[in-house]
Amino acid sequence: CGIVGYIGHREAYPVVLKGLQRLEYRGYDSAGIALYDGAELKMCKTKGKVADLKTKLEAEISTKGTVGIGHTRWATHGEPNDVNSHPHYSNSGDIVIIHNGIIENYDSLKKELKTRGYEFKSDTDTEVLVNLIEDVISKEDVKLGKAVQIALNQTIGAYAIAVFNKQKPDELVVARLGSPLAIGVGEDEFFIASDASPFIEFTNNAIYLEDGEMAVVRRGKEVKIRKIKDDSLVDPYIQELQM
Ligand code: GLU
Repeated sequence: CGIVGYIGHREAYPVVLKGLQRLEYRGYDSAGIALYDGAELKMCKTKGKVADLKTKLEAEISTKGTVGIGHTRWATHGEPNDVNSHPHYSNSGDIVIIHNGIIENYDSLKKELKTRGYEFKSDTDTEVLVNLIEDVISKEDVKLGKAVQIALNQTIGAYAIAVFNKQKPDELVVARLGSPLAIGVGEDEFFIASDASPFIEFTNNAIYLEDGEMAVVRRGKEVKIRKIKDDSLVDPYIQELQM
């Protein structure tokens, strides 16, 4: 399983697709990509290989957009099928998430969200998390980063996630606990991946998030890293990778 993300000035699709191919060695049963082209948030996902995703995606949606996230899934909750594949939208359709790992207390969170009117298309733990994030935003009127942090502090489990909100199209929020996550820092562009292999051809500056950390990456801004539990700021440590 693996995650890839891009935000910057390039077309995101080729970066994300190639990145998923680089991560295939990690094993997976399904794959999916979401792209944002400045107006529309589009998504394509499928059970099967990244090559199957490529065929389906190029037939069904426009590949345009300078923001993109991609996922290869190793199912833990919900059988491997198209609907359970990632990315997952929130109920409003504004927020989209990719997730590697397990949200162990998803069932109780899901019950609570259902009583608040949320509906679920998939059987995954991940769709619970994206709606929890949406619920925090609507209840507490906080920014995406803060909402992700509040939501994660209600979860038990393991994750590497990337979250995008089309209402805040210049940023991606990522977090990790128990699953790896690296950020490639380019010139006015950022790459996200389970390891550096998807972005090494574009930049050799990498930040490896530590367990329990989250980051907000914004176009044209410095990366902001915080500890998920206590909100303390962490100085980004940028490593130079050997090309
Ligand atoms: N628990 C999530 C699911 O089953 C993510 C699995 C993964 O790590 O790919 O959909």
